Amino acid sequence: MNQNKDWWECPKCKISIEPQFDTCWKCSFDNRPEDEKKRDEIKESGLSAKYQSLRLFQTFIWFLFFISAATILFSLLGAIAKFSMGGDIIFIISVLAIVILMITYYGTKMSSKMIDFLFDLDEKNNK
Ligand SMILES: [Zn+2]
Repeated sequence: MNQNKDWWECPKCKISIEPQFDTCWKCSFDNRPEDEKKRDEIKESGLSAKYQSLRLFQTFIWFLFFISAATILFSLLGAIAKFSMGGDIIFIISVLAIVILMITYYGTKMSSKMIDFLFDLDEKNNK
C-alpha cells in the first residue's frame, strides 16, 4: 500500500489511478485541486460572457419586430381609412399585411431561438 502513495483513488469508482492522470479514466472524476478547477471554469464560462452582446442583439431584434408590426398595423389602418369604400383591395392588403407579419415574426423567433440555443450549448459544455 505504501508504494502506491502517489497513486490516487477515485472516490466514486474506488479504483487506483496512476499519478500522471488528473481524471479518472472510468467516470472522468476530476481529482485536481478546487482552485485549479475553478480557474478552468472561469476560462470556459468566458465564452458566454464573451458573446453577451448577442443577448443585446436578441432584445434588439424583438424591439425591431414590434416596431415593424406597429408600422404594418398602422399602415393597414391607414389604408382601410383611405379606401373606406372597402372591397377587395382592403382584403388583399390585410392578407398581405398578415403574411408579412407572420414571416417577420417567424424570422425574429428563429433568430432568437438560435441565440438561446448557442447559450444553452455553452452552458451544457461547462457542466
Ligand atoms: Zn472514477
